[in-house]
Amino acid sequence: MQRLLVLFDLDNTLVDRQGTLADWAAVFTARHGLKDEEQAHIFGMVAERAYPSTFDTIRTRYRLSMSTAELWHAYCTDIAAMVSCPAEVLDGLDELRATGWRVGVATNGAVDIQRAKLRATGISERVDGVFVSEESDARKPQTRHFDLAAARCGRVLGDGGWMIGDNPVTDICGGRSAGLRTVWIGNGCSWPPDSPGPDHVVPHARAAIDLLLLHSSDYMRP
Ligand SMILES: [Mg+2]
Repeated sequence: MQRLLVLFDLDNTLVDRQGTLADWAAVFTARHGLKDEEQAHIFGMVAERAYPSTFDTIRTRYRLSMSTAELWHAYCTDIAAMVSCPAEVLDGLDELRATGWRVGVATNGAVDIQRAKLRATGISERVDGVFVSEESDARKPQTRHFDLAAARCGRVLGDGGWMIGDNPVTDICGGRSAGLRTVWIGNGCSWPPDSPGPDHVVPHARAAIDLLLLHSSDYMRP
């Protein structure tokens, strides 16, 4: 039987990035003796784009004495200590592989921080492959991103598969353009009007896993 591919987005799909960043911004603001009102600004900057260059901007703005490299390293260490993946989602990844799925992670971002999160949460050891956009400068929604993620799992996009994620553009439109079926993690939001919808909408990652497990035999042909 052909093992069918399923790719998961990482941030706000397998892990709660927004919640983790909010906690981190509070710690960072206190640690550097910044005013409370700067917390939202720091959160906003890092939520938008978390790369070493983001910390270069923060360092200059707040005249911090630590180097950009030290700030970036501390950020990766802090987030790895704070982030978690729900136990039922980790179990679900195991269940998918035990049922015959080939499971991967397809995420945009910097390698250091994304790999740190994957290791700290235990996701790394529960998937067949991971692709982080910075590794080959291939960001979702580019088809090349999905192509490289599939390859990490020993699959090709031509064999079909699924993309699960929270971002309508990068995960769902990108996944569909790459020839994958899609499940959108709504996180309580409605699908944007005027945009072709995903194959399924679910409230969280565990529900997406349950959907795939329920229909595993339909999705895998001998
Ligand atoms: Mg996401």
